[in-house]
Amino acid sequence: MSGFDLQNYRRLVIKVGSSLLIGDDGNVHRDWLGGLADDIAQLLEQGHEILIVSSGAIAIGSAVLDINTRRSRLEDLQAAAAAGQVQLVHAYQEALAKHTITVAQILLTLEDTENRRRFLNARGTLARLLDRSVVPIINENDTVATEEIRYGDNDRLAARVAQLVMADALILLSDVDGFYTADPGKDDTAEHIPEVRTITDDVVRMAGATQSDIGSGGMATKIQAARIATHAGCSTVIASGAIDRPLAALASGGKCTLFRATGSPAAARKQWLAGVLEVCGELRLDDGAVRALQEQNSLLPVGVVEVVGKFRRGDVVTLANGKGDELGRGLTEYSSDDAQRLLGCRSDQIEERLGYRGRTVMVHRDELVIFDNESN
Ligand code: GLU
Repeated sequence: MSGFDLQNYRRLVIKVGSSLLIGDDGNVHRDWLGGLADDIAQLLEQGHEILIVSSGAIAIGSAVLDINTRRSRLEDLQAAAAAGQVQLVHAYQEALAKHTITVAQILLTLEDTENRRRFLNARGTLARLLDRSVVPIINENDTVATEEIRYGDNDRLAARVAQLVMADALILLSDVDGFYTADPGKDDTAEHIPEVRTITDDVVRMAGATQSDIGSGGMATKIQAARIATHAGCSTVIASGAIDRPLAALASGGKCTLFRATGSPAAARKQWLAGVLEVCGELRLDDGAVRALQEQNSLLPVGVVEVVGKFRRGDVVTLANGKGDELGRGLTEYSSDDAQRLLGCRSDQIEERLGYRGRTVMVHRDELVIFDNESN
C-alpha cells in the first residue's frame, strides 16, 4: 500500500501526458480514455471534484498536418496544437458523455496564472464549472504562448492550476509509477521512493538524472510541479497512467510517490497574502461587513464605506474597520475607481452602477486573511 489515500482529498487536478493518451500514429487510445472516464465518473459520484490537465494536442495535430515535431519550428507546433486541440477535447467530451458528464475547454498561458487580474478571472470561471459538476479539460494556450512565456510542459501548468483552484491533490499520471533513485529503465539498482518528505536539492538533482516519459516533461518538471503544488498546500502524487483504470488503481493503494503538503491550500493562500509586501490601498468597512469577515464570509460592496488609495483589480488591499484599524487584507475584485462607485451598493445593483456586469463580491473569502488580535 502507498501512503496516499485518495479518499482524503476532495478537489483533484489530474494531469494526463501525451504518451498515455496518444499513439505514435496520432490516434487517441480510446479504450484507455474510456477507462479513465469510468474512473472520473466514479470519483465524481464519491463527491470528488475533478479537473483534467491534458497534453496531446501537438501529438494529434502533427499527425493530422503531417508535421515532424522533432524538426519543426514553434509556429508549426502551434499550428499542430490548434488542429489537435479540438480533437483532443472532443475525445474527452465523447468519453465522458457516456456518463452524462459535461466537459469544458480551458486554455491557459503562463500570464493567466501569474498575473493576479487574469488569475481572478480564471479562478472565477473554474469555480463556477466545478459548482456545476463540469469537468474542465485544461491545456496550455499554445497559439499565443511563445518560447519565452511558455510553460512548455503540462506538469508545471497542472501545478499552477492546482494552486489556482486550491486543489487538495495533484495527480501526475506518468509512464512510470513514481520517483526512483535512478532511471529504472536503465539501472537495475534503481529503488522506488514511496514518499518524499522534503523536496531537497538532492531530490531535484536525482530527478534531473532520471529522465522518464517521452512527453516534454520528464521527471525534473514533475519534481518542480510537486514543489509548486506542495508549497500551495496541495499534496502531489506521481503514479502510473500506463495501465487501465489508473485512478481506480491509485484509489486502491497502487504504487506511487507521494509528496505530502504540510498545510492546507487555504492556509497556504492566507500565508501568502499575509506576506505580500506591496499593499496598494485600503477598504474601510461598516460593522456588518467586519462581522461577516470574522464569520469567514466574503466582503460584499454593500459593506464598504470608504476607499483609500489607488489600486487595480487583483491588487492586495488592507481591510480596515470604519476607524481605519487594520483587520486583515485581501485581493480586491475591483479597482479603486469601481470600488468607489460601488460604495454601499447592493449586489443586485452593481450592473446599474458600473454599466457592466461585475462580480458580486468585493473580496472573495478564499482571497482574504483576517489577522488575529495579537498581530493587530
Ligand atoms: N500543450 C502541449 C500539447 O497539448 C503539451 C505540453 C506537454 O507535453 O506537456 O501537446
